[in-house]
Parts: sequence; C-alpha cells; structure tokens
Amino acid sequence: MIKLNCGHEATPNHTGLDTGYGTYNDLTYCYPCCAEMEKLAMMEHGAAFLYWEKPRQYKWGDSDIGALIDWPGNEIAKVTDITIRRHNMAGTVIYLWFEFEGRTWLGKHYPTAGDYVRCKVLRQKT
Ligand SMILES: [Zn+2]
Repeated sequence: MIKLNCGHEATPNHTGLDTGYGTYNDLTYCYPCCAEMEKLAMMEHGAAFLYWEKPRQYKWGDSDIGALIDWPGNEIAKVTDITIRRHNMAGTVIYLWFEFEGRTWLGKHYPTAGDYVRCKVLRQKT
C-alpha cells in the first residue's frame, strides 16, 4: 500500500480502476481526506463543484431524489428538492436544493452537460 501525504493509505476502490487517492497542490490525499477538504472548502467559499448521484430507477416525483457527491463518490448531502426550468441556451436547467452545515444550498445542473452540479450557498447561518 502507498502511504499518502495525508498520512493514510490509498482508499481501496470497488472498481479497482482508479488510483485510490486524489492530488492537490502536488500532495496526495485519500478519498475521506478529499471529502473533508471539499467540505472545508465549501464552508470557506460558499461554493462547490459536485456531482448528482441519481437513484438508478429515478422518475420525476419520486421522493428519493438522490444526493450530491464529490468526485471520488463521497456523499456530501442528500438532495431535498428539485426545480426544473427552461433555459434558452441549454434547453433545461435543473435546480437541486440541499442542506449542508446548517445552510441551504442551491445546485445548478444542465442535463446535457454531464452529471456535474455547480453549487452555491443561499443563506448564511443565523
Ligand atoms: Zn487521508
């Protein structure tokens, strides 16, 4: 096992296809440390670049509307609500609402552009 710069070993991966660690500023971090760094960055900047993990059998109106995950696949937050809007350039834009660290966040997702979601915090903690 490789020892990473965060002090842990590379995270075993169910697919066995990727490296088992992330690299940031030339230092290596295991996936749980990547998730912690992502969460700290979210709290510090009030913004994040996440992915939408939809339930496999997802249909509109289902109560299980998936979760937001970071790039190694760690769950950051459950999606609490979805709003769909027409967008004159991208066709459809989907807004994903979620709660993180006591704040309400809004993610913007374009179905034609992969699974990624640009997220921003809406309200500061009171
Ligand atoms: Zn680590």
